[in-house]
Amino acid sequence: MTTKKTLQINLKTIPETGLPVVIDLGQEWFARWREEDPGLDFAGARITGLVHLSKHGRDLLVRGNLSGHLELACSRCLEFFAAPATIDFDLLLVPGPPTAGAADEELSLTDLDRDYYTGEIVDLESLLREQIILMMPLKPLCDETCKGLCPHCGANLRRETCTCPADAINSPFALLAKLKI
Ligand SMILES: [Zn+2]
Ligand SMILES: [Zn+2]
Repeated sequence: MTTKKTLQINLKTIPETGLPVVIDLGQEWFARWREEDPGLDFAGARITGLVHLSKHGRDLLVRGNLSGHLELACSRCLEFFAAPATIDFDLLLVPGPPTAGAADEELSLTDLDRDYYTGEIVDLESLLREQIILMMPLKPLCDETCKGLCPHCGANLRRETCTCPADAINSPFALLAKLKI
């Protein structure tokens, strides 16, 4: 079980050998996120995985892999569906906040994604939220072949057929136009 508290990691509690953190994000976790960010709704999402924290001087290397599913609205038919989601990440957290001149150097310093922490606490919660946003497809599809909504009557063509002229719906050009949006 992952509670809010365990996702705030005090640097002092990370041993030299590193600290593995088991991630299990379920309904409660996503519901809390939705309360803070009302624009987001992952409904019955579930993400599990492992994050490994290790100290390198004052820097902190965070490696993780997460997988599961997010409940997303299909970009064609607008219905919610369970979208499989997975991500592997390596992040280097360095003491912050960033100084003005540092930004230019950084690019050449390392390929690792870099982030900042302040004080002694690493906020794994917001870090995980960022990764989950990255897992979201730009145009979620419930199915590659989802026919979406009829442009004329709005019927969900995945589940029903409508009486609109078929050539208006099924023409390859209509489909092409849709894909190019
Ligand atoms: Zn769909
Ligand atoms: Zn129709």
